[in-house]
Amino acid sequence: MLTPSLEDYLEEIYRFSIELGFIRITDVANKLDVSLPSVNKAVKILSKKGYLEYLPYKNIDLTEKGTRLGKFLVRRNQMLQNFLEAIGSEADKEEEAEAIEHYLSRETVDAMTMVVDFFRNNPDIQQQLIAFQKKYKNTQDSPNNI
Ligand code: MN
Repeated sequence: MLTPSLEDYLEEIYRFSIELGFIRITDVANKLDVSLPSVNKAVKILSKKGYLEYLPYKNIDLTEKGTRLGKFLVRRNQMLQNFLEAIGSEADKEEEAEAIEHYLSRETVDAMTMVVDFFRNNPDIQQQLIAFQKKYKNTQDSPNNI
């Protein structure tokens, strides 16, 4: 198990490996708005845990284990944004997915993924939900009215 912070590092490292084909400490630092020593420290820990191959002043490479988890973390983040969209949340979906992603069990991630796919395959039911939400907002049941 990785800490939320290490999950975010691995997630961004995986994104860079896909988008640029290489991973640089400076890119990760800029993206996550953290210092170079912080990234160095995280990279060392992720290497020790077998997610990265790293020699100081050389390239960083994802191991197979790191690639697998990185892909999962990126997909989980995207799924959560899609989930928040699907249930009609008006929150900042990017920010909220970023915050909640680390605290969900694999079982809950699977269940939420299914909800996203369910709505994708049943747009008529999604429309019913949206219509219900519009009415619901004005009823006393809404938590906003408590
Ligand atoms: Mn996060």
